[in-house]
Amino acid sequence: MKALALFSGGLDSLLAIKLIQETGVEVEAVYFLQPFLPPEEEERVITHLQKLIAQLGVKLHIFRLGEDYLRMLENPKHGYGKAANPCLDCHIFFLRKAGEMMNEIDAAFLVTGEVVGQRPKSQYRGAFPKIDEETGLAGLIVRPLSAGLLPPTIPEDKGWISLRHCPSIQGRQRKIQLELAKKYRLEYEAPAGGCLLTNVEYGRKVKDLLKTEGRLTVEHLRLLRTGRHFRLSPNFKGIIGRNHRENQVLFGYFCQNRHAEGLYLLKALGAPGPLTVGLGQPTAEELTTLAGLTLRYSDHAPDSTVTVKILASGKEHHLAEHSVLKRLSSPQPDRYRIT
Ligand code: SF4
Repeated sequence: MKALALFSGGLDSLLAIKLIQETGVEVEAVYFLQPFLPPEEEERVITHLQKLIAQLGVKLHIFRLGEDYLRMLENPKHGYGKAANPCLDCHIFFLRKAGEMMNEIDAAFLVTGEVVGQRPKSQYRGAFPKIDEETGLAGLIVRPLSAGLLPPTIPEDKGWISLRHCPSIQGRQRKIQLELAKKYRLEYEAPAGGCLLTNVEYGRKVKDLLKTEGRLTVEHLRLLRTGRHFRLSPNFKGIIGRNHRENQVLFGYFCQNRHAEGLYLLKALGAPGPLTVGLGQPTAEELTTLAGLTLRYSDHAPDSTVTVKILASGKEHHLAEHSVLKRLSSPQPDRYRIT
């Protein structure tokens, strides 16, 4: 018999897999890869996960989340947490996808590392039956870390597995998990950074995008990771690079999309400074404001008069130059800053 485990990369899901392996059931695992990681980071995350899961000899499936995940993210039924993290909907989404995969790989049930009371919204005891019902998988989701606190599942009722060896962990304490990790000699360093959607600054940018565009795309979500973001009007925003790497990302983005309309690349000439990308349909005044913001983050002396070059995308590829006095043209960033 086979089970499919939802693997988060954390200790709890590693332990859940181990506890199910102890019942004699073969386990495969699935990790849901968020769509807005840049390729090099995807690679780093996958390598890390494979190293962790190799300790248990488990086959790992990487499931790349796509457009349907973004649609859920735009309008989560149960709302967001502190940032743009729709944890309850996200979790239900993962379980539904895992349910489909369970059938494809001929697994009999799902396993998660959830713990009763660990997270206020999705892991209090009463949430589990509601989650299970909403996924259409009631009775088929086994949570071995809190097994003693939860009603028996179908695999237990039918005698496929016995969870008598499993703990009854409750709440946020980690003592039992750490003891079990020691017992099973598991290494468990979680991937750095955690879920980006729980990051308050990132969340602010996601919500700005939703408010102005009404829709999320992978490309835009990736771009939210780069630079300082400024909202100049509902129709126009600017992103200013914070370092060489970010300037390269912004330059690459402009070059890739140079044939589309509504994209601007700005650079203050004559001294080191950032590259800026403008997105949308600006008025002349808004473009000048973005040139001023670009200049504000450049190394030109105060009171110097500087030329800011502005390259526009689209058919015309036109180039404009603004001559601006740094002192006079420096708008207050806080007035426009998203993060
Ligand atoms: S922390 Fe992120 S990945 Fe996890 S449930 Fe919440 S939104 Fe989804």
